[in-house]
Amino acid sequence: MMDYDYIVVGAGSAGAVVANRLSADPRNKVLLLEAGPASHPWSRVPIGFAKLINNPAANWLYASEPEANTKGRKLPVPRGRMLGGSSAINGLAFVRGQAQDFDTWAQMGNQGWAYENVLPFFKRMESYEGGGDDAFHGRDGPIRVTNPPPREPLFAALIKAAGEVGIAHNPDYNGARQDGIAMSQASIAGGRRMSTAHCYLDPIRKRPNLHIETDALAEALLLDGKRCTGVRYSVGGTPREARAAREVVVSGGSINSPQLLELSGIGQPERLKALGIEVRHALPGVGENLRDHYAPRTRWAIGTKGVTYNDTGRGLGLVNQALRYAFLRQGMLAMVAAPIRAFVRSRDGLDAPDLLLGWVPMLTEAGPTGPRIAKQSGVTCYAHPMRPESKGHIHITSADPRRPPAINFNFLSSPVDAELTARAIRIARAVMTAPAMATLQVTEMAPGRDRTTDEEIIDWVKGAAETTYHPVGTCKMGSDAQAVVDARLRVHGITGLRVADASIMPTLTSGNTNAPSIMIGEKAADMVLADR
Ligand SMILES: Cc1cc2nc3c(=O)[nH]c(=O)nc-3n(C[C@H](O)[C@H](O)[C@H](O)COP(=O)(O)OP(=O)(O)OC[C@H]3O[C@@H](n4cnc5c(N)ncnc54)[C@H](O)[C@@H]3O)c2cc1C
Repeated sequence: MMDYDYIVVGAGSAGAVVANRLSADPRNKVLLLEAGPASHPWSRVPIGFAKLINNPAANWLYASEPEANTKGRKLPVPRGRMLGGSSAINGLAFVRGQAQDFDTWAQMGNQGWAYENVLPFFKRMESYEGGGDDAFHGRDGPIRVTNPPPREPLFAALIKAAGEVGIAHNPDYNGARQDGIAMSQASIAGGRRMSTAHCYLDPIRKRPNLHIETDALAEALLLDGKRCTGVRYSVGGTPREARAAREVVVSGGSINSPQLLELSGIGQPERLKALGIEVRHALPGVGENLRDHYAPRTRWAIGTKGVTYNDTGRGLGLVNQALRYAFLRQGMLAMVAAPIRAFVRSRDGLDAPDLLLGWVPMLTEAGPTGPRIAKQSGVTCYAHPMRPESKGHIHITSADPRRPPAINFNFLSSPVDAELTARAIRIARAVMTAPAMATLQVTEMAPGRDRTTDEEIIDWVKGAAETTYHPVGTCKMGSDAQAVVDARLRVHGITGLRVADASIMPTLTSGNTNAPSIMIGEKAADMVLADR
């Protein structure tokens, strides 16, 4: 049994931040447990996400249960499993969401989470190298964020085409307003990935009061009545225990955090009893309220040569791209997953955008070890509602911590989500067929021009859509009966235990979830230190 002040479980987007900020005070002895390895060679190169999305060395490789609205398909649920967590394998788009997202959390009763309260943490995390207003941007935080200009002709054409259908160019969607089309801001600088492992852990590896233990799987929380006193974990199959004199912070992410609570006897009593797990604390919301983006990828053939990476990133083109990366740190290898995106309103009268379109300048196909560039030249455009109403759940199916939990998304269970998805696809069609795209010789491949009614479009979505890897909400923050943590991220009914990661989001933010998860880590650390 080893003694610490704080134990952080999971070194991902949020957990690495918590460990950094808590150990900044040399009086705090901190243990950071990470189930995965210290690093992976592909995690520093941006295009490495294509090499890691299917890679068991750095990825939990979960899959969802078959559902009617996925036509029985099991969807891949990749999650990073190494220092940096999913920030070390993700698509690198840097998107905060809207002020309204956080104001909604505050209106739900979560004091201290309105946009004006979380903005200082968004600023604190970043060194933004784009332009924009200092009222919204940080210039000296750990994560370097860049905003590459639209170098490729395709991006300039898309910005013009969007303008032709009423979507204005807004270079800074993380600034005063989200609306409009923009080049993606990226957690990439100097052609390298800015994961939380690199930005928050590498600089502090030598702190004597921080112990980072990799390949260490947390298997259960140690509870003394209703107080959490430490963690039981294993390293290479050898069982260990560590004690936290002050607090344990669970930052295992939206799949693993509820899993660890359930394995520890915190959750729905009947479910736990059925698996032979002693109920230590009844908390019905654990694993509920799962939300994610169900995102169809529309596909477009491009007839004009040399415009997409299908033409310029294969064969000799790939050699050119490698040289461009080596000398300029630009091009396909330095690419954010969807380099250009648009935040759009589905109808007039809305306060803020509710739909997201994101373009990838190539078509991909399934290869033996993951996605690969297709021969056919084209563009992929995903299009989906940003704040879906459909909710699912994640629950363990065994008392064995190595068995993956069952993931049920319940996608499109809300008719509003289906209606908005069809609307997003229609807007993608409008942009791709606008006059500015004519010189590129664009032909719709999927869903296909013959699918015209909402029913036909949604039928295609059910058979084709995947997530954009943004599960949140399974240890929801709030004060209602389904809430798992309070507004200070303390687990209801248990002392000495907090959850700090994407699982605490009561609703899905309007966009990607890495930056909000880092913000949660920053804010959690402040609250832990303030409550000491
Ligand atoms: C393929 C992919 C692409 C994505 N693209 C983008 C994007 O472009 N932009 C964006 O903003 N977001 C993106 N996301 C989402 C974003 O990265 C995540 O929302 C965010 O990283 C979640 O942070 P987290 O701290 O909640 O969890 P994670 O970062 O997943 O961290 C959890 C950590 O806990 C560890 N852990 C879990 N269980 C245990 C245990 N029992 N014991 C010890 N350690 C444990 C895990 O190994 C992991 O390191 C993407 C995600 C994926 C997977």
